[in-house]
Amino acid sequence: MPAQQTVKLPSGDEYPLTGLGLWKVPKDSCAELVYTSLKLGYRLLDGAADYGNEEESGQGLSRAIQEGVVERKDVTVVSKLWNTDHTSEHVEDACRRSLQDWGVDYFDVYYIHMPISLKYVDPKVRYPPGWSYDGTPNGQLILEDSPYHKTWEAMEQLVDLGLVRNIAISNMPGGMIMDLMRYARIKPAVLQVELHPYHSQNNLVNLARAFDIHVTAYSSFGPTSWIGISDKVVAKCESLFTHKTISNIAKTHNVTSAQVTLRWATQRGISVIPKSSSEKRLKENLDNESFDLTHEEIAEIDELDRGLRFADPAAADPRLAVYA
Ligand code: NAD
Repeated sequence: MPAQQTVKLPSGDEYPLTGLGLWKVPKDSCAELVYTSLKLGYRLLDGAADYGNEEESGQGLSRAIQEGVVERKDVTVVSKLWNTDHTSEHVEDACRRSLQDWGVDYFDVYYIHMPISLKYVDPKVRYPPGWSYDGTPNGQLILEDSPYHKTWEAMEQLVDLGLVRNIAISNMPGGMIMDLMRYARIKPAVLQVELHPYHSQNNLVNLARAFDIHVTAYSSFGPTSWIGISDKVVAKCESLFTHKTISNIAKTHNVTSAQVTLRWATQRGISVIPKSSSEKRLKENLDNESFDLTHEEIAEIDELDRGLRFADPAAADPRLAVYA
């Protein structure tokens, strides 16, 4: 099994270029998927409290450790603080709940999932809390007056307590990152944002690099995972898998369009975390680092950028227009 490429975070920790995303992985197949992915060579598991499958993810990890497939120290285990837990008094409890669910005693990377603070929901009432205050699809959404610097301070304390090795940010626009860098005692190690050929985010990537923040791309396949969620935006573009530019490049290298899309990011030092439940695609995705695109091919893919964003909570509530 070829060793996966990694980048070194400022803490000195190695962070893989390719990992497995766990959003929308059903509970009943999650443990098996995590176990299989580790057997195939995945060493980065991108989870979140909001995905509702941390316990099952942890079961897959623990089976792989028990069977000697991996050691805990070789796996980058990731979780994310949900929007309803941003106030200082809830950050540690939320992190400890996720740690307990995963069955690990530290996270390698712990993100603030979104720069959106919502009213606290008691986990005894509902877990994961989701978006609306009352838990119904069109239920009430109540913002919390919790400034980001307070949440960040509480995240820094998680590092001090040894619960988290690297703290990180997600969906954060450039202006907020600039501000965060002014007060952060512990700097964010990773920025996770939507990033694919239709939304290449080159300015944001350059800003992150200037601050030594590693970038992880989510939704690398563009519209694919947003069908049925953001259909108005999905309707504006064709699948990246069939797009001529991508499929012609794929033919040249005798690889798949999915691999070209992933390689366009990893070759530039951006991590990817594609989600798949099929073993064939898991292998294919992990194998994206086995070939190189030419500069011209990367430039051709860059030309597809249309600033199309599929993850956009502002479509549901204009107060949430904060995404990067
Ligand atoms: P993705 O771009 O990984 O796409 C997943 C879809 O592509 C699935 O339908 C899957 O069946 C299909 N697919 C996977 N491999 C394929 C292949 N080789 N060929 C053809 N189809 C393939 O989408 P995503 O789930 O949106 O993003 C990946 C991960 O990013 C998530 O699982 C999650 O961990 C993370 N994420 C984070 C945020 C955030 O707010 N921080 C938001 C969305 C996703």
